[in-house]
Amino acid sequence: MSLLARKIRLIMKLRKAGITDTAVLSAIERVPRETFIPPMFHDQAYEDIALPIDCGQTISQPLVVASMTQSLQVNDRHKVLEIGTGSGYQAAILSKLCRRVYSIERHRPLLATAERRLTDLKVRNITCKVADGMKGWPEQAPFDRIIVTAAAAAEPPEPLLEQLSIGGILIIPMGRDKTSQFIYRITRREADYSIEQLMPVRFVPLLPNVARNEPIAEDQTDPNVLAGSFAFQN
Ligand code: SAH
Repeated sequence: MSLLARKIRLIMKLRKAGITDTAVLSAIERVPRETFIPPMFHDQAYEDIALPIDCGQTISQPLVVASMTQSLQVNDRHKVLEIGTGSGYQAAILSKLCRRVYSIERHRPLLATAERRLTDLKVRNITCKVADGMKGWPEQAPFDRIIVTAAAAAEPPEPLLEQLSIGGILIIPMGRDKTSQFIYRITRREADYSIEQLMPVRFVPLLPNVARNEPIAEDQTDPNVLAGSFAFQN
């Protein structure tokens, strides 16, 4: 089956699974996922699975990318912050839907590769940096939307809550152990925040500080802990 036929099959699967936002589906159709994964996995680019990338990290499952993006309710006036650039794929999807994406990654080699891919694809509205995303990007705050693509333990990092504009939405996976992780949607209101639990997921952990030659953590090499894999089969 050609990549194009596989892509069409994936889009149909996403629609069936509840992705109804046509702007999100169109972004997934337009961004070549094969560009963001190692060549040996190209034939699996349009399977609905998470795949390994460098530094023991993963590119999320398409259904999880689509669900998180749909839940973020992005429009073309929004300034969006992403924590966990990884392959750059989620950032590329967001770039089709919002005004500007700011994306932070703690692994320098991953960011270098992601930036090269985004340049090759002529995506011009993404600004990236190597830093600890748990601190947010204060110089660019506030953000209309924030999306975290690695799992926080129990609470969202305080700086991210502070850097969200009033009416802004934060999408973040949280859960201390990998069998009970969920995506949460946190909305900043005038005086407080509302929180909704969305779907079960398995993400690699959100870790502090910039990575410096760190050994790959054991649970990051466990194939069951792939970024954005659904925690259940259906
Ligand atoms: N959005 C990515 C998914 C990457 S997996 C994609 O579309 O491919 C999660 C990423 O979050 C990993 O690359 C990991 O290194 C990064 N990460 C984890 N903790 C971080 C932190 N505190 N700051 C920035 N990046 C972080």
